[in-house]
Amino acid sequence: MSDNVMDQIVSLCKRRGIIFQNSEIYGGQNGFWDYGPLGTELKRNVRNAWYHDMVASHDELTVLEGTPKAFSMVGIETALIMHPRVWKCSGHFDLFNDMRVDCRECRARYRADHLRIKVARSDDGTPLAAWGFMPGSDEFDWSGAGDKKLAKSVRERCEGEISVDAAPMTLANYTASLQPSEDSGEIAEHLIPRCPNSSCRGPLTEPREFNLMFKTIVGALGTEDDAAFLRPETAQGMFVNFKNVVDSSRVKVPFGIAQVGKSFRNEITPRNFTFRSREFEQMEMEFFCHPGESQQWYTYWRDRRFAWYKNLGISDSKLILRDHTQEELAHYSIGTADVEYAFPFLAEGEYGELEGIAHRGDFDLRSHMEGKLVADANGCLVVEQDEHGQPKYRGSGKDLSYFDDQTRERFIPHVIEPAAGADRATLAFICEAYTEDEQPDEHGKMQKRVLMKLDPRLAPIKVAVLPLIKKEGMPETAQAIYRDFKAAGINAVYDQQAAIGRRYRRQDEIGTPFCMTIDGETATDGCVTVRDRDSLKQDRIPIKGLVGWVQERLK
Ligand code: ATP
Repeated sequence: MSDNVMDQIVSLCKRRGIIFQNSEIYGGQNGFWDYGPLGTELKRNVRNAWYHDMVASHDELTVLEGTPKAFSMVGIETALIMHPRVWKCSGHFDLFNDMRVDCRECRARYRADHLRIKVARSDDGTPLAAWGFMPGSDEFDWSGAGDKKLAKSVRERCEGEISVDAAPMTLANYTASLQPSEDSGEIAEHLIPRCPNSSCRGPLTEPREFNLMFKTIVGALGTEDDAAFLRPETAQGMFVNFKNVVDSSRVKVPFGIAQVGKSFRNEITPRNFTFRSREFEQMEMEFFCHPGESQQWYTYWRDRRFAWYKNLGISDSKLILRDHTQEELAHYSIGTADVEYAFPFLAEGEYGELEGIAHRGDFDLRSHMEGKLVADANGCLVVEQDEHGQPKYRGSGKDLSYFDDQTRERFIPHVIEPAAGADRATLAFICEAYTEDEQPDEHGKMQKRVLMKLDPRLAPIKVAVLPLIKKEGMPETAQAIYRDFKAAGINAVYDQQAAIGRRYRRQDEIGTPFCMTIDGETATDGCVTVRDRDSLKQDRIPIKGLVGWVQERLK
C-alpha cells in the first residue's frame, strides 16, 4: 500500500468523479463538498441500503430476534428550517456549542478540543514556549527555516539545551499546568500557546463558546425576530411530528420514524476530507417505545446498527462499538454507544465516529411539551426557569403522550435514536474498499493495480459490458446486453475504447464488480466471460440469464 493512503483516496475521488471540492474554480469553500457522477451513485446506494434496511424491507408482522414484539417503521421528510422555538426547547440554541480558540494575528479558528499543544523546555524543565498543532501535521523545525518567529522566541529565553515534549498535551491540560505570575495573576506572554500556522505563530485567544448552528433570516423584513436556523440534525423533525404520525397512520408504539436529509453545522475546523463538513447528510431514526421496554430496544438497535456496517463490507478489525462512559453521557441519557471506524487519516489505534446510538428517555417529547429541560439537584429533568421564575423557553403546550388502547395506559414514550452520517459512512466504505495489488499485464509484466472492493450493492456501476474488439458483431451483441441491464434498472456502462486490460483497470478503480466481455466465441456458444473484480476469476455465463445472475448478486 502507498505510504499516504488518504492522499491516494482523495486523488482517486477527484480523478474519477466521486467527490470534488465545492466551488473549486473559485478556490473552494472550506467544509463543503460536491459528489460527482460516480459519488452520487455511491452515496445514493449507501442511503438506499440504510432506508431499505430500516423501512422498505422491514417486516412489521413478525417479532424479530432480540425484540419484545413486532413493530412498524415509517419514513418522513421534514423541512431544513424549523420554527426557532424547536431549537430553544431542544437545547440547541443554548447548548449546541463547541469551544474555539482564535489566532489574534491571522484570525484562524481552531476547535479547542481538537488542538494539541507542544511545549519547548530548557534542560531543567522550565517551559520556554508552547504552540498548537492539529494531530497529523506540524513538526517544529529547530533550524528556524519557515518558523523563524517561534525559533527566535525560544532561543531568546535559553542558551543551553532545548527539548520539546515528546507527548503533546490537550489545551485543557496545558492550561491547567501553567502557574500564573504571582504579581499580575496572568500567564506570562511567552507561554500563551502560539498559532499552529508556522508562518504566523501569533498568540491564541482563551477558549470561547461558539454556537454551531447556521443562522439565517426568514422573510423580507429581516429583523432579529425573523432569525431562524438551518437544522443541525434531522431528529427534531421526527419529534415534532410524533403526534401527526400517530394520528395519521395506523402505527402503534413501539414504532420508528426514519429520515435521510441534510444537516448543517458551522464546524470550527472542518477537516479530514468529508469526515467533518459544514453541510452533510444524516440518516436518523427515532424509535418510540414503552419506558419499561426501552433498555431492551436500546440493546437491539445498538447491535443491529453495528452489524449493518459489517454486512456491507466493513472489516471486523477496523470497526468498534464503543459504549460511552458515565462522564460522556448526556444528563438525560441512560446509554449511548458509538460505532467507530479506523479511518486511514487517524493515528494507529484511533477511531472516528460513524454513528451514535442513544437511549434518550422521554427528554425530547417532554421538551417539546413542557419547554427546555435541565437536570435539578437530584438529577430529575425539570423545566429551566428564567430570572423571574418563568419557563426560560416554553414548549408547544401540546400533549405528546401516547394512549395504548390495549392496555388502557397513557405514557410518554421513550426514544432510542440511531443517528448515522451518510457522508461518513460513504467515506468509510471508500476507505475500506481502496486496495492496491499487483497483477500481470498482457505481456506478463507485473503492474500495480488500484481497485475498490466495494460490496456490489454499493458499487456505483454494477456491470461493464465490453466487446473484445470493435468488429465481427461483438459491439452489437454487447450493446444489446448493455440495454438489457439498463432496462432492468441495473447501472451498467458500455466501453469499447482501448485494450481490454486497460478497460478492466478503469472499472477496478471505481469498484465495478462485474466486467462482461463479448468475444469470438460468444456468437457460437451464446455466453460472455464474466470477470470478478476481486478474485479475477473468469466464468462463461449464458447471455440469456445474465440479468438474473447479476440481480441475484445485488440482493
Ligand atoms: P462529532 O462528535 O464527530 O462531532 P456528533 O457526536 O456531534 O459527531 P451526532 O450529533 O451524533 O454527531 O450526529 C450523528 C452523525 O452525523 C455522526 O455520527 C456523523 O456520522 C454525522 N455527522 C455529525 N457531524 C458531522 C459533520 N460535521 N460532518 C459529517 N458528518 C457529521
